[in-house]
Amino acid sequence: MNPPVALIAEVTHRCPLSCAYCSNPLDLKRAAAELGTATWLRVIDEAAALGVLHIHFTGGEPLARRDISTLIEAAAKAGLYTNLITSGVQLSDKVMGELTQAGIDHIQLSLQDVEAEAADASGGYTGGHARKLTAAARIVGAGVPLTLNFVVHRGNADRVATMIDLGETLGASRIEIAHAQYYGWALLNRAGLMPSREQLESATRAVEAARERFGGQIVVDYVAPDYFAARPKACMGGWGRQALNVSPDGKVLPCHAALTLTGFDFPSVRDHSLSDIWNRSDAFARYRGTGWAPEPCRSCARLEIDWGGCRCQAFALTGDAAATDPVCALSPDHGVIEQALAALDRPALIPRKIATPQTV
Ligand code: SF4
Ligand code: SF4
Repeated sequence: MNPPVALIAEVTHRCPLSCAYCSNPLDLKRAAAELGTATWLRVIDEAAALGVLHIHFTGGEPLARRDISTLIEAAAKAGLYTNLITSGVQLSDKVMGELTQAGIDHIQLSLQDVEAEAADASGGYTGGHARKLTAAARIVGAGVPLTLNFVVHRGNADRVATMIDLGETLGASRIEIAHAQYYGWALLNRAGLMPSREQLESATRAVEAARERFGGQIVVDYVAPDYFAARPKACMGGWGRQALNVSPDGKVLPCHAALTLTGFDFPSVRDHSLSDIWNRSDAFARYRGTGWAPEPCRSCARLEIDWGGCRCQAFALTGDAAATDPVCALSPDHGVIEQALAALDRPALIPRKIATPQTV
């Protein structure tokens, strides 16, 4: 079996923001449940030994952990490419210095919108947008490659062209325009977040125009909302094929949304090595490859392209994790997607809970 390429280290669920489109689980873990520094250091060494090439420190907000620079330094020393995925509101000069010292290779900074008022309302954090702009300048000033990430939804989808302009102004080497993925809090808020088809088409045109204008000098990544697609995404490059996700309390998952699945006993790094989990756990083996696939996937030419789509989405929308992802127009359950798109209203968004106190 090939080794995993990436380790997604969800080091905490704590976050000072409360985005309604957050894909974290509804059952957020508190600080007391988190893995300690020593366990994370062991996991990082085990990941390198297993053949992992890059590690993505994410959350929640990874800067909510005071040992984050220690973990990044250990990963860099173990030869892993290190990426920090952050909201940036805690990225002070001091923290930036510590990250640089630790050997951070890349930072992905999220922005909620292009103007402070809308952005702060979306993240539920007054003054957050201004802090993020300062954080972007610090990252670029430190010579660390910056990806700016915008999560797109009905409330901001009309401003995609301006988002890209802002990314250019801030000196990003990559701009990610990512429509919300409907897991966790985003699934809870789906009826209020889903863009219209017209918004989607206009956002897509804005991305295409920017790509042409940049000519590859700034990369513009685009993650479309799969509810509008005729075929599903290859979620995680296939279940248990390319990446491991370690949750804040140590559960090892093939995908960050997998804790929503019932009938699984996901192994923990507290009890097992990463190698044992990757190579021997039932949880990783269950939907690996193609042997588990039902019709119409089983006889479909795309099975080794999209791997039947997303198991967590299949479970969330049909109750059966082994079903064809209903996003696929060939799925017998595709009607649930059509119903969801036909039933979009404007309910009040429910913000993600458990915020931490500001520490800077
Ligand atoms: S609340 Fe917002 S900033 Fe925090 S983890 Fe979720 S999406 Fe990211
Ligand atoms: S039938 Fe299955 S394999 Fe074929 S496109 Fe749809 S989800 Fe992918």
